[in-house]
Amino acid sequence: MKDKIVILILAVFILTGITSCLPNENNKDLSPISKDGFMLGTFVVIRIYDNKDEEILEKVFDRLKEIEDRMSINIENSDVSMINKNAGLKPVEVHDDVYYVIQKAKEYAEITNGAFEPTIGSLVKLWGIGTVPSDSEINESIKRVDYNKLNLLDDNKVFLEDEGMILDLGGIAKGYAADEIKRILLKNGVTSAIIDLGGNIFGVGSKPDGTDWRIGVQSPFEPRGNHIGVIINSDVSVVSSGDYERYFEENNKKYHHIIDPSKGYPASNNVTGVTVLSEKSIDGDALSTALFILGVEKGMSLVEGIEGLDVVYITKDNKIYISSQLEGKFELADEELELIIP
Ligand code: AMP
Ligand code: MG
Repeated sequence: MKDKIVILILAVFILTGITSCLPNENNKDLSPISKDGFMLGTFVVIRIYDNKDEEILEKVFDRLKEIEDRMSINIENSDVSMINKNAGLKPVEVHDDVYYVIQKAKEYAEITNGAFEPTIGSLVKLWGIGTVPSDSEINESIKRVDYNKLNLLDDNKVFLEDEGMILDLGGIAKGYAADEIKRILLKNGVTSAIIDLGGNIFGVGSKPDGTDWRIGVQSPFEPRGNHIGVIINSDVSVVSSGDYERYFEENNKKYHHIIDPSKGYPASNNVTGVTVLSEKSIDGDALSTALFILGVEKGMSLVEGIEGLDVVYITKDNKIYISSQLEGKFELADEELELIIP
């Protein structure tokens, strides 16, 4: 009797062991583990499909908290706040990651001729009040915007030359965060995951069945979750900037959060949304903000000149422009929209 019980227990062990090891394609558990929360001023969701270790999710959120604590403009003693407090006074030593992001921000300011402007802070603050500022207020703030006065010195020291200048990494930090999350996921053996930082998506690896991710591009014309099209690709960062993301209205006019540094006003052209595909999310993030300001023509030629980048532009008159390399990887969701491949 005792022997029979032992054999039975052994059989159960062996059988369960075998079934969990066998690559049973038809019976694969495709449900992900996930964690969400409000970080970096946005709603974050991480879904891991091929690894059920919840601890990885904790590691990811710990890192996000660290990035926020160092780079947020709203946290009293963050490295960025210390740089701003010491503007015009003295250089501030920052963590390696903050130095790296500022370096990248300055690089993109140069590449985009100042459309991406990391010292945009004084204007962002002014418009952040939620009413249209006066011309004199804008003129005062715009004087304190100039990336040439953002100095990266030795020993991780950063210095803003003029008092009142404000460094704002809001247009690039989420991209860096996505890259960091991806790095942590890969280090922990994850090969299939979706990182969603408020609509900025990183498709890590591929779907659990090995096929490409299908990543929706938000429609600027409809509520969240409605897509104008789908990106079909693996291992890709998909970052969007748009006038529909954050704005206020005054006298029936919309004032959004992406500021044209040359004018001191929210960028105003025929663009309503832009999505950038890239290998690294930090590049896509900085560029999506800049491309929104640059408009279709200048933006397209910039993207076509940089290896490994693709873009989807959505204009106010319902036209979708995609870069040439994206043909076949982009599916339009609505027949009403016109697809243009320049
Ligand atoms: P995104 O949503 O990535 O396009 O970034 C928008 C955020 O970046 C804003 O909320 C500001 O914090 C900041 N920002 C606004 N205008 C600019 C600009 N011209 N260059 C860099 N950052 C900007
Ligand atoms: Mg951005």
